[in-house]
Amino acid sequence: MASIALNLKTFVGLRPASPENNPITTLAKPSSTTTAARKQLRINAAKTSPKVTGRNLRVAVVGGGPAGGSAAETLAKGGIETFLIERKLDNCKPCGGAIPLCMVGEFDLPLDIIDRRVTKMKMISPSNVAVDIGQTLKPHEYIGMVRREVLDAYLRDRAATAGATVINGLFLKMEMPSSKTAPYCLHYTDYKAKTRVSGEKKTLEVDAVIGADGANSRIAKSINAGDYEYAIAFQERVKIPDEKMKYYEDLAEMYVGDDVSPDFYGWVFPKCDHVAIGTGTVTHKPDIKKFQLATRLRARDKIAGGKIIRVEAHPIPEHPRPRRLLDRAALVGDAAGYVTKCSGEGIYFAAKSGRMCAEAIVEGSENGKRMVEEGDLRKYLEKWDKTYWPTYKVLDVLQKLFYRSNPAREAFVEMCADEYVQKMTFDSYLYKKVAPGNPIEDLKLAVNTIGSLVRANALRREMDKLSV
Ligand SMILES: Cc1cc2nc3c(=O)[nH]c(=O)nc-3n(C[C@H](O)[C@H](O)[C@H](O)COP(=O)(O)OP(=O)(O)OC[C@H]3O[C@@H](n4cnc5c(N)ncnc54)[C@H](O)[C@@H]3O)c2cc1C
Repeated sequence: MASIALNLKTFVGLRPASPENNPITTLAKPSSTTTAARKQLRINAAKTSPKVTGRNLRVAVVGGGPAGGSAAETLAKGGIETFLIERKLDNCKPCGGAIPLCMVGEFDLPLDIIDRRVTKMKMISPSNVAVDIGQTLKPHEYIGMVRREVLDAYLRDRAATAGATVINGLFLKMEMPSSKTAPYCLHYTDYKAKTRVSGEKKTLEVDAVIGADGANSRIAKSINAGDYEYAIAFQERVKIPDEKMKYYEDLAEMYVGDDVSPDFYGWVFPKCDHVAIGTGTVTHKPDIKKFQLATRLRARDKIAGGKIIRVEAHPIPEHPRPRRLLDRAALVGDAAGYVTKCSGEGIYFAAKSGRMCAEAIVEGSENGKRMVEEGDLRKYLEKWDKTYWPTYKVLDVLQKLFYRSNPAREAFVEMCADEYVQKMTFDSYLYKKVAPGNPIEDLKLAVNTIGSLVRANALRREMDKLSV
């Protein structure tokens, strides 16, 4: 979902994490060796790992969403014998489909797979105060809206063109290698081989595995990666009359309030010929349908006469898994747990982590000529954590600050009216970089935020008194 990251780095005391001060990396690395020694070890190990003879390194990517598609393309282009296993080639992943502008450029996406270019966003408070954001956007800037069946198929096809073998199969289980160079044996049901209606059981031997199989990842289970807390997100695709659709032509809405979600937000995102309306929650999962109804009710005038054409729901991970790598098998995207809190954004991070992991394999194997080992894949984790840990942390803090009560949400929407907030928010979201701030404006923002929160707290106390 579209990010609404405010640039609060100046007063929440966040700074880019080095692998040393980063708890995520710390979980995954051995504690006894120093960083320098580990680096040295890794470089040596990659150079001395055995050459693969008579063939190139073989890697299986399980799952053909944005994480899997981009991983497979990078591997294939890098000289790796690549297999991409996807259970459903016309999969229609339940998703709002909002992507940042930088993804279009970084992943060279053709404009015709983007349904809508959103340049206006309405933030709507619990008391229905609507704040328009987007005035600070430059003429070429927008949030892309895609249908996942279109985006995922495009990325998979591109991987196939680059040389990956795409298998329409359901991954079942994996036998772990018996030695440092022995293969992984993947068991799957092949749907292309039409020998039986339900598909044919097959096996595939590979040297390394990328688990890109989403929130319910079987690869994660195979490597005992542990669980994560998750939100359940619900979405309805609604075909609304053409004249109503005009309002949403380049506009998306975000609703906050206890009615639409106690810990998330409700959204109306425009698609080619319909809107996607949804909400999510971690803390009150059994009430998700109630929150969905409330979101639809809040938008009722704008979607009047609409017809629900699809209902979908799916888990959204809340944080990375305790383990994301074991030996020559690594997790990426939702399988790893790379969705930001507060905004629920995961498409870009999935594609980016898939690509980063694949790059580490290509590099470690010297373009498929050598066997890889855990140290090669670990480079992906270190780079990932160093690059994105601050983003995840800021959004985590924002969720805790602003999504905890209706008065806090009113304060949040009020803050969104500030042009500086909007600029920093869009810059951070569209380009996935912590935008350099203006110290005076940062200070003003800090003071305003604290002021808003103090007012919110005072209001909450008064409301609590009234309800006693
Ligand atoms: C309702 C909802 C709305 C969202 N809105 C947004 C949004 O607007 N913007 C945003 O950035 N993020 C959004 N997200 C999050 C986003 O959808 C995910 O972060 C993103 O899809 C992760 O991509 P992925 O490739 O890691 O996993 P997935 O997209 O889940 O892809 C996993 C793939 O693996 C396949 N697979 C799974 N198991 C197997 C198996 N055993 N064998 C073979 N194949 C298998 C699946 O069929 C699927 O194609 C939303 C999520 C939800 C639930």
